[in-house]
Amino acid sequence: MSLRDEVLRANAAFAAEFGGGELARPPARGLAVVTCIDGRIDPLAVLGLAPGDANVLRNAGARVTDDVLRSLVVSRHLLGMRETLVVGHTDCGLEGRTNEELRAGVPGSDGLDFLPFADLEESVREGVRRIRALPLLADVEATGWVYEVETGRLREVETQP
Ligand SMILES: [Zn+2]
Repeated sequence: MSLRDEVLRANAAFAAEFGGGELARPPARGLAVVTCIDGRIDPLAVLGLAPGDANVLRNAGARVTDDVLRSLVVSRHLLGMRETLVVGHTDCGLEGRTNEELRAGVPGSDGLDFLPFADLEESVREGVRRIRALPLLADVEATGWVYEVETGRLREVETQP
């Protein structure tokens, strides 16, 4: 069976038991989470959340990019989000790398900014700072966190100046 067939079969079973059709669009816990694409991270499970509780934004490296800020503005102003967690993680593929190294491994990627970072906690702090600096998000409580893929634990990153 192809992977495509496997996921379609799994979805049929999921839909047969589905009970979330009445969930509202706004995140019930007033929460947004920015984290990495890393497949080891299950944001809802890590944070004790259920579908409908949070807006989850993911990209490689959990970087607070312009598009993440756009989504947070939507989350804040159209969906009632009040609090945002920026969650980086240990063993991230973008930590301690440079664009030059990454481009060397990806033919055709000249000029692409992979948004790598030298230091995990500093990357998380930078993300929190970008959120706090945007006037449209001035009343959002933004905090920084590191998820440890080795232990399942979440720890807070000091983000006060
Ligand atoms: Zn990562």
